[in-house]
Amino acid sequence: MADRVLGKTGRIVGPVVEAREVVDVEMLELVFVGDERLVGEVVRVKGDTAWIQVYEDTTGLRPGAPVFGRGEPLSVELGPGLIGSIYDGVQRPLDVLRAQTGDFICKGVHAGALDRDRKWEFRPLAEAGQELAPGAIIGTVKETEVIEHSILVPPGKRGKLLDIVGPGRYSVEDVIGRIAGGGEESDLRLYHRWPVRRGRPIARRLAHKMPLITGQRVLDTLFPIAKGGVVVVPGGFGTGKTMIQHALAKWCDADIVVYIGCGERGNEMTEVLLDFPRLTDPRTGRYLMERTILIANTSNMPVAAREASVYTGITMAEYYRDMGYHVAVMADSTSRWAEALRELSGRMEEMPADEGFPAYLPTRLAEFYERAGMVETLSGKEGSISTIGAVSPPGGDFSEPVTQHTKRFVRAFWALDKQLANARHFPAVSWLESYSEYTGDVAEWWGEKTNGEWVELRSAIISVMQREGRLERVVKLVGADVLPDSQRLILEVAGMFKDAFLQQNAYDEVDAFCVAEKQYRMLRIIVAFYRLAAEAIKKGATLVGIKKLKVVREIMQMKYAYTNEEAEKLDQLEKKLEESIHEIGSIFG
Ligand code: ADP
Ligand code: MG
Repeated sequence: MADRVLGKTGRIVGPVVEAREVVDVEMLELVFVGDERLVGEVVRVKGDTAWIQVYEDTTGLRPGAPVFGRGEPLSVELGPGLIGSIYDGVQRPLDVLRAQTGDFICKGVHAGALDRDRKWEFRPLAEAGQELAPGAIIGTVKETEVIEHSILVPPGKRGKLLDIVGPGRYSVEDVIGRIAGGGEESDLRLYHRWPVRRGRPIARRLAHKMPLITGQRVLDTLFPIAKGGVVVVPGGFGTGKTMIQHALAKWCDADIVVYIGCGERGNEMTEVLLDFPRLTDPRTGRYLMERTILIANTSNMPVAAREASVYTGITMAEYYRDMGYHVAVMADSTSRWAEALRELSGRMEEMPADEGFPAYLPTRLAEFYERAGMVETLSGKEGSISTIGAVSPPGGDFSEPVTQHTKRFVRAFWALDKQLANARHFPAVSWLESYSEYTGDVAEWWGEKTNGEWVELRSAIISVMQREGRLERVVKLVGADVLPDSQRLILEVAGMFKDAFLQQNAYDEVDAFCVAEKQYRMLRIIVAFYRLAAEAIKKGATLVGIKKLKVVREIMQMKYAYTNEEAEKLDQLEKKLEESIHEIGSIFG
């Protein structure tokens, strides 16, 4: 589309530029500012003045420079080649940017998001003459070893397929077919564009029923998230938000992961950029990047691109969901994103609300989180987006606006606790403050995996943790010595659960990721220990005697001693536990 002159620049306030004497401007229109053609987006219009947020460094830009309008909103390219890519917040490939400018900070670089030269093996699935609905699948491309990429009729387009190419190798710009409908003929390519701020259409929303297995025991067992669910991870500095996001990106059982690194320190993002491409998936043995898209916005990159990045990320996620994939989106940290929003709002001299954030902060948060969900796609498939957003409240105070507003739009809350982190209890997920409203949704799935025992085992251990909470207060006042063994057992089991189950070492090869089968068996053993020990104590055994059992030490080490593949062997450990405690009990019994 040819760009038209829209107006000329007025005041330039950092990333926000005024365009004066504008004609025919549209809200959210994609624009190019000055002779360098800096990319921007119209975010407010009043009379003949438009405010533009610019995705590039505006130093050197002068008032009076021309502003060009594209006549369409800021969009992303959706097609084969997204997987494995690393983009900035407005979908410019970082490696291309860096090759052209030698740095991440670039001006007027308009690299296409998808490689124009690469050829893809296309296999048509539709025939000429067929009537096609929006979102229908017309063929496939093998994008990576693990991802079969469906080529979709762009949502919004429908009609008769006039022609389609045969199987062969095509680049994203090649015309692979033509469709006629609504008195209009259009070319079909391996890719199409979609505006980032508009959710892609679906057939309908579906109920949640499958968990998104994170491989983190405290999450899957105590505070599960469903596929299609939304969760927030609030935590002060150093409590492990990034570690949790990385663990999920590496191990969760989504088909595709979109990781949005948002405004964190440059070196943290560099770690992601260096680390991720080397990682292999324990399930497929393939490179994790074969299912991953990274968006990187370090704190030294333009602030406006950071604001756009979450929408860019979720739009790509929706595109793969529309093919019938389960996608997980991680945003670390949405606080840095909200700060970008605050800065832009301040530059536009808008009236601030809570702590300087604009009054529309909750609306913007909702616009991001509500694009998650389990859905039936336009082509009748089941797909989902699960969204996991980290929040870094200043001073770890969860009463601040970003945490509080986010809480309204999510159904699970993984609260990271400074004290646990200080005590090196990781993941530092507080079992008292966290919650998940997905537990009921995923109970049936877990029931099938666990001979119907999951709900009961879970409530057994939760009740132990709650009783421990109450006992701790007594212990603080009078010491543990006054408690009878039956109550000290509660403290003992709670301690065992914390150390042997909840704590999980991200740096340990065996422990970093824990499959559902292993989680179930470990939980069973701890609950069995509680019941058996309580019986034995009733019969006269002492807690001191029980603690000395060799099998107790083995339980404390089980997370390291049994690999995910060996989970079934834990049944033998449980047998051994039964025998050992019965032996003690029978002395008294
Ligand atoms: P945040 O992003 O909240 O500032 P990080 O995710 O960077 O915090 O975590 C800070 C540190 O905590 C890490 O460098 C690591 O040493 C430790 N840590 C967090 N989670 C774990 C874990 N599961 N296993 C081991 N160490 C952890
Ligand atoms: Mg972090």
